[in-house]
Amino acid sequence: MFHKSQYKGGDMKPKYLTKLGQVPQLSQEDIKALAPVSEQFIFRTNEYYQSLIDWDDPNDPIRKIVVPDVSELNEWGRLDASDEESYTVGHGIEHKYDSTALLLVNEVCAAYCRFCFRKRLFMDDNDEVTKDITEGLAYIREHPEISNVLLTGGDPLIMSTSKLEPIIQQVREIDHVRIIRIGTKIPAFNPMRIYNDDSLRAMFEKYSLPEKRIYVMAHFNHPRELTQEAVRGLDFLMKSGAVVINQTPMIAGVNDDPQVLSELMNRLSYIGVPPYYVFHCRPTLGNRPYTLPIEKAYEIFELARMRGSGLAKRARFVMSHSTGKIEIIGLSARNIYFKYQRAAENRNSSRFMVYKRNPEAFWFDDYNELVDDYILEDERAMRQEPAFDFEYA
Ligand code: SF4
Repeated sequence: MFHKSQYKGGDMKPKYLTKLGQVPQLSQEDIKALAPVSEQFIFRTNEYYQSLIDWDDPNDPIRKIVVPDVSELNEWGRLDASDEESYTVGHGIEHKYDSTALLLVNEVCAAYCRFCFRKRLFMDDNDEVTKDITEGLAYIREHPEISNVLLTGGDPLIMSTSKLEPIIQQVREIDHVRIIRIGTKIPAFNPMRIYNDDSLRAMFEKYSLPEKRIYVMAHFNHPRELTQEAVRGLDFLMKSGAVVINQTPMIAGVNDDPQVLSELMNRLSYIGVPPYYVFHCRPTLGNRPYTLPIEKAYEIFELARMRGSGLAKRARFVMSHSTGKIEIIGLSARNIYFKYQRAAENRNSSRFMVYKRNPEAFWFDDYNELVDDYILEDERAMRQEPAFDFEYA
């Protein structure tokens, strides 16, 4: 059942590798060819995660997640493909959907995914992230419609618990914030950081309350990441009171195979971690080798879902477009069917759209022929008000 990691460090902290030359399996030729890629898009991994790679397989999916690819240098995509910066409402805070605000609390991850949609944050001239959340907290306090706060970056769990806890504590003190989310790939990249930290357990026990939970938004891309260590880390989080769910982009060469994706979704469901979103890979600069056409990706997603139980197939396949999360619902011989799952403008919240198919499309913007659309008329939504008034205790 478990994938065994070859990691010999046991419970120890894995050593981080920040230079291609520290990866013994790469030849001098590889290093020379990949150096310009790692100069443009930061490289970082760690010994534990490296131990999951099968170096005899040049197409190994785990390798693809963290080892640069020369095709990243192809001119394709934009650095901020979902225009996140345009939803920035203060230093380190984004607010796109009524109920949810994002606090960008750091710009470091335990390894860097080559296909990251936030790779701009890791560049020297970017200052969207701040460790000082004063401005963000003030904004959240002034916006009672914000019931969910997502701590993200970067990876909040790379921070020591002593640095993370005061952030959680201050967000928890805001009455109208019910759910605190932590977006993290630490359970995949470095699960030892989780289960060796009793203060982390205490933090979840203290702040993930019966009516105000902390959700850990985990990020497993491939079933081979679900090692014994990773499962232990997930179990630790759940036993500490966190609700854990998973979201993953569909990445070419990693999980763009119905068998692989269904194994990932099924195993997550066995562990008790519902698959939440499968994202279509964003057209971020450097992401050409990792993406695939939308219609192809949708077919893979649907074939994967067909191989799963109801609990394994709860994920939705969505695009994080600048106008909102657009779910790809289905295909017919001529058309493709979309629906907004979340919309930046309330009036789009129920919008259903039918477009003529385009097998070459990599993003929503590549669909030009609208066949039909429908919006449920809701007066409140039209007035840009939240759908429900909720009196928080
Ligand atoms: S863990 Fe998330 S933020 Fe970090 S590199 Fe991967 S996708 Fe980007």
